[in-house]
Amino acid sequence: MAELWLMQNLLETAVNRARQLGAHHIHEIKIQIGAASDVTPESLAQAFEVVKNGTIAQDAHLHSEYLPIVCYCATCNVEFQPIDPLYQCPECHQPYCEIRQGQELELNDLEIS
Ligand SMILES: [Zn+2]
Repeated sequence: MAELWLMQNLLETAVNRARQLGAHHIHEIKIQIGAASDVTPESLAQAFEVVKNGTIAQDAHLHSEYLPIVCYCATCNVEFQPIDPLYQCPECHQPYCEIRQGQELELNDLEIS
């Protein structure tokens, strides 16, 4: 399960950040999940239930923000949300445009004490 490993990494980052700030408890962990990142908020939430045990985040709530995919076509200078898996530009139909948003899987914010 890739989610477990990913969530473990996110949790370690959160715990390290909290410790650096002198905190002993994490109450809430906010993460951003891009729609192109291959994981879902549900699967990460399940993984979080497993990896949080025994850490300073064991009572924490996981809050996931799901970010849609946003692509950019340099030819047309437009940003768009792709409707197909090829990320085709709606104007010139060029496939595999640059992904500007949607690949995120990162820690956003923490609530600590
Ligand atoms: Zn285009």
